[in-house]
Amino acid sequence: MKIFFHLGSHEPDYRSLMSQQQDFVVDGKTIPVQRLVIADQTHSKQVHICSEADCGAGIGNKPQIPVADGIITNIPNQFLLIRTADCTPIILMDSKQMVVSALHSGREGTRKNIAGEAIRQMKLHFGCNPADITAYIGAGICQQHYEVSREIYDHFIESQKELGLHPAVNLPRHIDIRKSIFQQLRQAGITFKNIENVLECTFENAAYYSFRREGTKNRQINLVGIINE
Ligand SMILES: [Zn+2]
Repeated sequence: MKIFFHLGSHEPDYRSLMSQQQDFVVDGKTIPVQRLVIADQTHSKQVHICSEADCGAGIGNKPQIPVADGIITNIPNQFLLIRTADCTPIILMDSKQMVVSALHSGREGTRKNIAGEAIRQMKLHFGCNPADITAYIGAGICQQHYEVSREIYDHFIESQKELGLHPAVNLPRHIDIRKSIFQQLRQAGITFKNIENVLECTFENAAYYSFRREGTKNRQINLVGIINE
């Protein structure tokens, strides 16, 4: 068994996937649409642990996994999908215990430390050792392009400090999501060398969907699953 993952850009995109509802190819791998698991992504820190019965959640008439922004599985050939357009996707993989997770870490998810919550659940339910987990932080909006209101900024910074972290305060009212995620992963025990970054800003780079730049309803898809190969 091995782990397959994909951090998305323009294609394949979420809107086409939802309209076609067909198996699709990503990086040479065919993904059976009925093996996807899609959560409703409500900007929570809730992480759902999948059962076999969750396959196809968010496809056809089957509801998305409710009130979840993170998904974890150890079930082979189940593909966790997180959709993003400025929010930052995170993929976690433990190739020793064979457990994977996909997270939607936008401003609220990051403020609430969904990354730390997912790692806690991986330890609790699957006995994962954080030292064995590799994290991939995908493309998201950068600090320079993420200016928010004073109220939102202060709330975010305060929350990070309460977590014992050191959020970026170098620009007024600009939130550095990636930096906070990195600190959260390190705090949860992920080693420095096991954190990989896609250092792309979705606002700056037209290869990505960006809600702030274009007001799009489309999303890049980010996937992870355990495959029998
Ligand atoms: Zn940027």
